[in-house]
Amino acid sequence: MRVAVLGAGPCGITAGLKLAEAGIETLILDRLPFAGGASASRPIGDGKSRMDFGPHVFHVKNPEVNKLFFDYAGSDCRIKKRNERILVCGGLFNYPLDIMEVLKQLTPGYIFWMGTAFAIARVRRKIFPMKEDNFESWGISHFGKPLYEFTCGKYTEKVWGMRPCYLSEKLAQQKLKDLRLRDIASKFFGNRSQELKQYWQDYAYPEDGIGIIFERMASAISSRNGRVELGAKLAGIESNGRKVTAINYKNFEGKETHWECDALVNTIPLTHLANALLEGSSSIKLNSAKNLKYRGLALINAFFDMNQVMPYDWVYLLDEIFQCNRVTEQKNMGSSMIAFGKTVLCFELAATPGDAFWSAPDDVLAKIVKSDMDKIDFIDSSKCKEFYVTRLDEAYPVYTLDFNKHIEETIKELASSENIFSSGRQGLFLNNDIHDSMEMGINTARHIIDKLGTAEWYNFAWNYIIGKIEKKK
Ligand SMILES: Cc1cc2nc3c(=O)[nH]c(=O)nc-3n(C[C@H](O)[C@H](O)[C@H](O)COP(=O)(O)OP(=O)(O)OC[C@H]3O[C@@H](n4cnc5c(N)ncnc54)[C@H](O)[C@@H]3O)c2cc1C
Repeated sequence: MRVAVLGAGPCGITAGLKLAEAGIETLILDRLPFAGGASASRPIGDGKSRMDFGPHVFHVKNPEVNKLFFDYAGSDCRIKKRNERILVCGGLFNYPLDIMEVLKQLTPGYIFWMGTAFAIARVRRKIFPMKEDNFESWGISHFGKPLYEFTCGKYTEKVWGMRPCYLSEKLAQQKLKDLRLRDIASKFFGNRSQELKQYWQDYAYPEDGIGIIFERMASAISSRNGRVELGAKLAGIESNGRKVTAINYKNFEGKETHWECDALVNTIPLTHLANALLEGSSSIKLNSAKNLKYRGLALINAFFDMNQVMPYDWVYLLDEIFQCNRVTEQKNMGSSMIAFGKTVLCFELAATPGDAFWSAPDDVLAKIVKSDMDKIDFIDSSKCKEFYVTRLDEAYPVYTLDFNKHIEETIKELASSENIFSSGRQGLFLNNDIHDSMEMGINTARHIIDKLGTAEWYNFAWNYIIGKIEKKK
């Protein structure tokens, strides 16, 4: 049996490893010159610093995935407590929010206003529920307008590039549950019973960056029955009706290759999969997938000649005065990634390919970051020596008001294929984490090894998608 895997991110690499371990001839193909996808670590600038695409920490949650992760993490992997902050209303707060700190930093009038609106919202939801048919109405209905605005109103618009009333209520369900606003507000009224789950508080991080895990897994695949083609260009997917028969690609040297396969694992964006299915040969068209939208990120790395700028791993920039969404200090996670006496702050600026931020020259992005730095007390922008910009397209699937219709139609059509197994963050259009994608990689490989077929796979995958979107998993 021969299986082609599109994408060498955590999902594709994990699926490829499990398939190769089962003795299946496996080819993994990725357009990037390194393994790990959005969770890769790679040299930037003068090549002496190694950075993630914004630090990626591993949440220690699922025992089977943990074992796989730590088998490849080696002895230099540290377990750390999350150390993050939010900058909002001019104050720096612990995140998740700590009620005592909120009480100390905000004026009594503002707290009273937020608390009262929250209490009214809770009662109104029970007696006269308002429509919860988009992000904004869901947030206001659950938390009252002041608390909603305080934590995510303008920030959501900045991150997703559109007014929250044009985003699905499913995104609010997912993201606002992460903020744990209800727990925080409940604590405000004296309920202290809800503690944060351990997997949320702790994370694992290897000294050489998260990407080292996927680089080592890629080497393990190559030493078994597999081949990992990095820096390759997918030219097309050949099919016979509903069955994929081969993939065509150019390798990193430009050599054209035709690779016949019995099954295809897809972990690249569904829009790319739809475009790669060759006209004429495939009766799977995936027209609905072409309506799915993604949001990208410009990552502006600011180099400093000092060992540390801030003691936090990352700070969310919620206030409207900031153009960036988040600033992170990679060195606080993996000290050997950046030379002694130097550090790098990575500013994340949400952008969509083609828009003004995405197309802006690097020096304009550097000016935006410099202006954001000047509004943050604990960063001295005069110590910043240079900037290095990278971009990540398709960083986030965008849950527009009609996204669920398009994803449902896409999954239904894929389920009618004979041998396309779509999986992972991009292949199932999920805002998920590394451990989720690794778990889905294991499950995808298991379905193929056990010859369970696509109908069974998409039945499983659909339940998984619903669980994730509605935040039940
Ligand atoms: C800014 C940011 C921060 C994050 N932080 C964390 C974190 O701290 N912890 C955490 O657990 N998760 C985090 N995540 C989520 C994490 O990045 C993903 O869950 C994970 O990388 C998903 O793995 P995947 O394999 O499913 O998809 P991806 O990592 O997206 O991999 C898909 C692969 O497909 C390749 N590809 C795409 N198109 C093509 C094509 N046409 N041809 C060939 N190859 C193609 C890509 O190059 C990529 O390698 C973060 C995400 C972002 C955007």
